[in-house]
Amino acid sequence: QKLRAAQIRETYLKFFERHGHTIVPSTSLVVADDPTLLFVNSGMVPFKDVFLGLEQRPYSRATTAQKCLRVSGKHNDLEEVGPSPRHQTFFEMLGNFSFGDYFKADAIAMAWKLLVEEFKLPVERLWFTVFAGDDEVPADEEAAQLWIAQGADPARVLRFGRKDNFWVMGDTGPCGPCSEITMYIGDDLAKMSAAGVNSDDPDYVEIWNNVFMQYERSTMRPLPRQSVDTGMGLERMTMVMQGVHSNYDTDLFVPIINRIITELGSDEAHYRANLAPYRAIADHSRAIAFLIADGVLPGNNGRSYVLRRILRRAAYQGRSIGFTRPFLAEVISTVIGEMAPAYPQLAERHAFILESANAEEQQFLRTLSGGISRLSTIIEQVQSSGGNAVPGNDAFVLKDTYGFPLDLTQRIAGEAGLTVDEAGYTAAMNEQRERSRAAAQFKRGADAEIWADKGLPSTEFLGYTQVAASGQILAL
Ligand code: ATP
Ligand code: MG
Ligand code: MG
Ligand code: MG
Repeated sequence: QKLRAAQIRETYLKFFERHGHTIVPSTSLVVADDPTLLFVNSGMVPFKDVFLGLEQRPYSRATTAQKCLRVSGKHNDLEEVGPSPRHQTFFEMLGNFSFGDYFKADAIAMAWKLLVEEFKLPVERLWFTVFAGDDEVPADEEAAQLWIAQGADPARVLRFGRKDNFWVMGDTGPCGPCSEITMYIGDDLAKMSAAGVNSDDPDYVEIWNNVFMQYERSTMRPLPRQSVDTGMGLERMTMVMQGVHSNYDTDLFVPIINRIITELGSDEAHYRANLAPYRAIADHSRAIAFLIADGVLPGNNGRSYVLRRILRRAAYQGRSIGFTRPFLAEVISTVIGEMAPAYPQLAERHAFILESANAEEQQFLRTLSGGISRLSTIIEQVQSSGGNAVPGNDAFVLKDTYGFPLDLTQRIAGEAGLTVDEAGYTAAMNEQRERSRAAAQFKRGADAEIWADKGLPSTEFLGYTQVAASGQILAL
C-alpha cells in the first residue's frame, strides 16, 4: 500500500494540474541554447526565458517532472554520489511554476495541502525554513507567518541566511528568498531538534525548495511579475513516503541494485558492506542511459567528456567490488526497463544506448590494468619518499595515455591515503595544449609559407641542395 515512485510523480503532477497548472513534459538534459550550462540541473532551467519575460507560453502555471544532472558548475554532486544516501548525479525534480501568476500565499497553501492532505506526511516531523534577512534584503517573515497560518508549529519554522535561503539566477535578473521543507526521519521524535536541519545529520532530509522570485537583482526593487519556482527531488520524496533511509532503497533503485548483485553473483550483505560503489554504479547507470538517450556520446570535450568520466568511474567502481568483465550494459538494460514507462525514448534507443555504453566500457577496460599498475608504481614512489600527493604531471600522463580522468586518479590515490597535485595537473595539461598549438602553427607555416610562398625553386630537393651548396644554409 506504499506509493510507488511512479505514483508519487503522478500524484504531484495531477495535484498541480487540478490547481490550474499545465503538465509540461521534461526537456532533454542538454540545454539547447544555453552555453553557460552543460546540463539541466533544476526544474526551472527550461523556463528561464519565461521567467525573464523573453518568452511567452500559453499558460502562466506549469508543473513538471524534469530530468536533472548535477555534475558540473554551480551544482556538482559527483563526489557526494556513493557516500551520500540521498544524492545522485541524475535525478528527477518535481516542480510547480508560476509565471507572474500566484505568489507566496498560494504557493505555501498548495505546498501544505500537497504534503499534509495528499501525501499525508506526519506534520510533527516537518520543518520549514525561511530567509532570515541581512543588510540588503529584509527577512521573509511573510513566508514564516504563512506556514504558521497553515498549521506549522512556530517552533519548527527556522530562519537561515543567504547560503540556504536566498536564490539568485545570476548577477542580474530575478532573485528572492526561498523556503524549504525538511523532514525528520529518525526513530526518536524526542531527539528531534532544530540543530539537525541543514546539517549533515542523515535523520533530516531536505525534500522541497520553494523559491519566490521577488526582486530584480541589480536594483533590488520588487519585480513587476513576481513568480514562483519549486523543486522537490522525486527520489527523496519516494524515500520518505516508502519509509526508508536512502534514495537507493526505494523502488527507483532496488531493481538496479539487485541487477548489480545478480551480475556480480554477490548478495545483499556484500551490497550493505560496500554501499558507496553499488550506489555509484546504480546512479551512474541511470545517468549514462539518459545522457545517451539525449544524444550525448562519450568523448573528449564538454558534455561528452562528462559522460566519459561518469562511465569510467562506474566501470572502475565495478572493478573495485569484483567485476572482471564489462557489466554496465546489463545494469543499464534494467535502468531502461524500469524507466521506459515514464521516458519512452529510452526504449526507442535501447540498443543504441547499450552498444555505445558497452563499447566505451570495453575500450576503457583495455587500458585500465595498464593505468592501474602505472599508478601503483607512482603511489609507491610517493609513499616511500614520504610525500602525500601524486605529482600533477603523472596524473596528466595517466589521463593522456590511459584515459584516466583526474577524478579517477584522485579516487585511486585517495584509497592509498594520497591526494593529487591538481595545480600541477592543470599546468601539465596547459603546457601540452600550448605545445600542440605551436606544433599546429609550425605545420601551417611550413606548408603554406616556407615551401610554397618563399620563391624557392619548385623542386624542394634541388632548392635545398642549391642553398646548401652555396653555404647559405649555415646562415639561416
Ligand atoms: P542538498 O542541500 O541536499 O544538496 P540542494 O539544496 O542542493 O540539496 P536544491 O537546489 O534546493 O537542492 O534542489 C531542490 C531539491 O532537489 C532538493 O530539495 C532535493 O529534494 C532535490 N535534490 C537536490 N540535489 C539532489 C541530488 N543530487 N540528488 C537527488 N535529489 C536532489
Ligand atoms: Mg546540493
Ligand atoms: Mg540544501
Ligand atoms: Mg535546497
